[in-house]
Amino acid sequence: MTRRAVESGGVGDTDRVPASYREILEAPTLAERRAVWRRLRAPGYRGSTRIAQVMAVTLVPAVLALWHAGPWGWKALGAAVGAVLVGASVVYFSHRFPMHHPMRGLGLLYDLHTRCHHMVFREGQTEIESIDDVDMVMMPWREAAAIGWVLAPLLTVPWWLVLGTEAALVYYAVAVLYYLAYELVHLASHLRVGGPLDRVPVLGWLLRHHRRHHAWAVMHHGNFSMLIPLWDWLLGTLVTGPRETSGPR
Ligand SMILES: [Zn+2]
Ligand SMILES: [Zn+2]
Repeated sequence: MTRRAVESGGVGDTDRVPASYREILEAPTLAERRAVWRRLRAPGYRGSTRIAQVMAVTLVPAVLALWHAGPWGWKALGAAVGAVLVGASVVYFSHRFPMHHPMRGLGLLYDLHTRCHHMVFREGQTEIESIDDVDMVMMPWREAAAIGWVLAPLLTVPWWLVLGTEAALVYYAVAVLYYLAYELVHLASHLRVGGPLDRVPVLGWLLRHHRRHHAWAVMHHGNFSMLIPLWDWLLGTLVTGPRETSGPR
């Protein structure tokens, strides 16, 4: 990242940003950006409702699919492993590229992630302050539904054609559950640092892995995985130690 990009938080030209994002970006400190975010919430918004909605639009179809799939054979087991590997790849590559670099047709991902999510958290200030701040981390239910009801079925089609209906149902369910686990682990990484989840083996490491991603010097370069750091490890983007940080306050 260039020095100029670091100094602007790596968010690029703010002239092209929609008015609501620009208000968040132009607030001079992290605390003030969070205050603008909260002021822009829709009337009646509640963080607990968002969590319940995202869980509902993912858990209901996943449980129904598993129920219809019945007992697992080898094909279903292979489909489940495939869903986990595809899920890890989708998270890594969508996070590393469109969420951190503006790309034609995918600008919304960049706006929501780099220009919004990263501007209200940084390493050392990764904690949400109340359950209502869950909207700084978790997608709205419509986006969650688009993933669970459109993207996951599309990704399931090749598995259905090759392995049949039972394996496809398992693939679909595991893919949707992987997405839900992504949301919940991401949320957990933005809870209190040093809390009980930090002491859970593996999970605690994953939470610290994502908090380090929020350092200004790391955000465009490393720790793009959330649940399985396979691609960070294979492609050399795993950052385990502190780096010098600079950027917006
Ligand atoms: Zn985050
Ligand atoms: Zn990021």
